[in-house]
Amino acid sequence: MTDISFEAQMLHTPYEKPDAYNALSMPIYQSVAYEFETATAMEDAFCARTTDHTYSRITNPTVQYFENRVRKASGANNVTAVNSGMAAISNTFFTLAYAGANIVTSPHLFGNTYAFFKNTLTGFDVDIRFCDLTNLDEVRSKVDDKTCGIFLEVITNPQMEVADLKALAAIAHATGAPLIADTTIIPFSTFHANNFGVDIEVISSTKYISGGATGLGGLILDYGTFNWSHHKILKMWQGPLGTEAFTTRMRREIHRNIGAYMIPQAAYMQTLGLETLDLRFRRQASTTLELAKRLESLEGIVSVNYTGLENNPFYAISKEQFGDLPGAMLTFDLASREACFSLIDHVKLIRRATNLFDNKSLIIHPASTIYGTFPESVRKSMHLKQETIRLSVGLESTDDLYNDISQAIKAS
Ligand SMILES: *Cc1c(COP(=O)(O)O)cnc(C)c1O
Repeated sequence: MTDISFEAQMLHTPYEKPDAYNALSMPIYQSVAYEFETATAMEDAFCARTTDHTYSRITNPTVQYFENRVRKASGANNVTAVNSGMAAISNTFFTLAYAGANIVTSPHLFGNTYAFFKNTLTGFDVDIRFCDLTNLDEVRSKVDDKTCGIFLEVITNPQMEVADLKALAAIAHATGAPLIADTTIIPFSTFHANNFGVDIEVISSTKYISGGATGLGGLILDYGTFNWSHHKILKMWQGPLGTEAFTTRMRREIHRNIGAYMIPQAAYMQTLGLETLDLRFRRQASTTLELAKRLESLEGIVSVNYTGLENNPFYAISKEQFGDLPGAMLTFDLASREACFSLIDHVKLIRRATNLFDNKSLIIHPASTIYGTFPESVRKSMHLKQETIRLSVGLESTDDLYNDISQAIKAS
């Protein structure tokens, strides 16, 4: 079934084993452990000679079903579901990094990712080399034979910067490192990261996939396109194919030791989320594009930042990589921090909350919240402005949102 639509594929992925009651929805297997007929069968399962489930920190049937659907939808070789986007990022880099290694990335990162790199990984003697990923000469000057990955967010938040993935993949691969992308902002229903040279994709499924912000989740997609034979540690995990070392080490060692596997209820909810992912995304993103255009001429708004606008500096590369609908988040600048606070205080429909891609539209002032405890010098280096408001666009109509923002500006 490869010639059916994305939506149809999301609805009709078969189960690994027939359900005893022919349930039409994948049951939630709320069990920690699994029973065996014999000691030998137990030995075989625990020693990975069979794929039987043993313990739900390692695998679980409901979670595995969700992983299989994501694998089919994305074309990845291996998918691992974990219990948050940060667990996806930390599992990935605990698998790749080692003392003495370096990671080349941008300072334009999600707050916790930045802190994980800067505060946590550096404590394990991993060198974090921040640079401008849109300046390829600068990237080339940062990579070397200890680079264990180039990492980026495909549209940075809230700066909305888009780097050229194919160009970064060429630099990464020439130096012997994988390209790793956080694609939370553009789902795999429209953006095929591996076609642009991304080897490993990490996603906060808390956002688009969960469907209505029902729970936390994270995904690690390994496309099996990178050869690990020169990686200091992963070369020891290499099998006959030469490309499976990353997932093998992560599943057999890192992920069970960290203990952040997805829980079965979350996998159930997120499987439902997958079924409407493409519909929700298209609706939310087209509302965002229309709203961005209308906000540009609204009095009181200094500038609107959305890479789907033709005057955006990243319009061309964004269109090449993500098509006409680059996501359902935009930012806009007002004259001052006070104006931002006042607008946020006066919205009536849009909700004052963090998170992205809930069905409800959400508004936040990033500099004082997500990055509020960062020193001002760090905020400056991350190009975070006090004048910026972030809006995550939900399922309301464009008129609903435009009217709410314009009444809030008038009232403030
Ligand atoms: C939210 C987010 C994360 C972290 O995800 P959690 O599920 O909250 O742990 C990572 N990257 C990006 C781009 C995000 O938006």
